[in-house]
Amino acid sequence: MMGPPGSGKGTQGKIVAEALKIPHISTGDIFRQAMSEATPQSEELKALINKGQLVPDSLTNAMVFKRIERSDCIGGYILDGYPRTLSQAEVLDAYLAEKHQNLDYVVMLDVPEETTVDRILNRRFCKSCGGSFNITTNPPKIENICDYCGESLSARDDDNEETVLDRIKVYEKETKPLIEFYESKGIVCSIAGDNSVKEATKEIGKCLGRDI
Ligand code: ADP
Ligand code: ZN
Repeated sequence: MMGPPGSGKGTQGKIVAEALKIPHISTGDIFRQAMSEATPQSEELKALINKGQLVPDSLTNAMVFKRIERSDCIGGYILDGYPRTLSQAEVLDAYLAEKHQNLDYVVMLDVPEETTVDRILNRRFCKSCGGSFNITTNPPKIENICDYCGESLSARDDDNEETVLDRIKVYEKETKPLIEFYESKGIVCSIAGDNSVKEATKEIGKCLGRDI
């Protein structure tokens, strides 16, 4: 699942993984979990992520491979937000080849920059159950309270105006070149990510040849 920050990778990744009954592996989620634990590594991660910078490739690759090794990944998995650099993509390719696996599809969510910035600044999450809301397009029933579990909502620490612009720059420079890399392998599905969540999911399903 590829796309700029705020394109809906997390939302779509979760929906598609649930529908296909396979794990949803989000590097952003893995890092946020690691940041919430009091370890020396969590401080390092916070310093990078809250400035909109990428986590080093070696650490990112190691965390993803450790997750893919788990037995629930035998029937497939969805990678969300990974790979994000050409080097990550190359290392992933070599790793999968060794395991006689390969990526079946790369879903690319296309969304204009104005939309992604608006979405990011307006989104709120529930730390307790993972619920996500948008204060303008998908507000919770009670202001700042999660519809699903009643806990309070918050914005991600890296979802502020300054960091968002840095993240978009990093995306343009580091991640966009991956589109060509995967297009040359003929596995890219480009999806219009600025439609409704439902419509985007439907389009993804069509591309994967599955009824989602
Ligand atoms: P978004 O796509 O909205 O930026 P994510 O939750 O996917 O959100 O990622 C949040 C942050 O985690 C990124 O800005 C980056 O610092 C870090 N991160 C996530 N995935 C990777 C990756 N594959 N390589 C390096 N850093 C990553
Ligand atoms: Zn909740």
